Amino acid sequence: MGDAVENVAQLSAAVKRYGSTLALAGVDLGVRRGEILALLGPNGAGKTTAISLLLGLLRADSGEACLFGMDPALRVARQRTGVMLQNTSLPDTLRVGELIDLFRSYYARPRTVADIIALSGVGDLLDRRYAQLSGGQQRRTQFALAICGCAELLFLDEPTTGLDIEARETMWRAIRRLVDEGCAVVLTTHYLEEAEALADRVVMIAKGRIVAAGSVSDMRARVASRRVRCVSTLAPDAIAGWPDVRSVARDGERMDIVTDKAEAVVLRLLQEDAALKELEVVRAGLADAFVEITREAA
Ligand code: ATP
Repeated sequence: MGDAVENVAQLSAAVKRYGSTLALAGVDLGVRRGEILALLGPNGAGKTTAISLLLGLLRADSGEACLFGMDPALRVARQRTGVMLQNTSLPDTLRVGELIDLFRSYYARPRTVADIIALSGVGDLLDRRYAQLSGGQQRRTQFALAICGCAELLFLDEPTTGLDIEARETMWRAIRRLVDEGCAVVLTTHYLEEAEALADRVVMIAKGRIVAAGSVSDMRARVASRRVRCVSTLAPDAIAGWPDVRSVARDGERMDIVTDKAEAVVLRLLQEDAALKELEVVRAGLADAFVEITREAA
């Protein structure tokens, strides 16, 4: 129980089935105070199920879920959280300003309206009916509603899906500010650059199991491969057959070679192509780590 009290949220050996589908196969997951934890995994990995257990929306078949050391179904625990889920149903006819007032009324110490608007950027939407908003505007409104209380823990399930670049950056800035105030954030995303930009810690889930956990740089370090980029006249199929080359992608005259032995590949490129240009070697990103770790797990 010690861990569960120190962590703001905790799953211990959590198992969840839907009929014959094993969605979570014994997951241990702690969320620390004030951290941004990114849950990554392919479609159907179990990310939403994990969040739903932590929020008390679902019960584990076995194992335990704790929120602030309490049963997540208790209102007193849930009141300390803010939530933005993928499928949110809201009263369509209410205007955005009215929804904010309604959500603020759920909390004993709500955030000020001015602060909610500054963080979420919905100032221009207050008089608009929710049902008439675009997908991206609805997403921004859902974020505004998630931060109506001064939550100690925010659950954001794919918060920036469908947002344009400016709206995404506004949300990233808001998330960082909330974390500076001491809020912890659990984020699921399919945008690896989002996890790379925000997360203190990454947990990768595949088929209901945690397959890797650590900082973004820990994840990168688990991947030995490098990318060799260049402009070359050599045939990609020929390079794909070289030892230690994992893949070759060609975009116009540019080549992107993934390899475990960058030095050997660079040497051979220089030997075989006198016209080689714009050579660079870059380390693996989170996207490479993700592909490799989930492939290992499969
Ligand atoms: P995504 O990235 O697609 O949102 P996810 O990682 O959030 O996926 P979950 O939604 O947790 O995955 O689903 C885990 C597994 O449980 C999937 O195989 C899914 O089909 C199944 N599942 C989820 N909800 C239900 C449900 N209500 N009834 C039956 N099966 C479900």
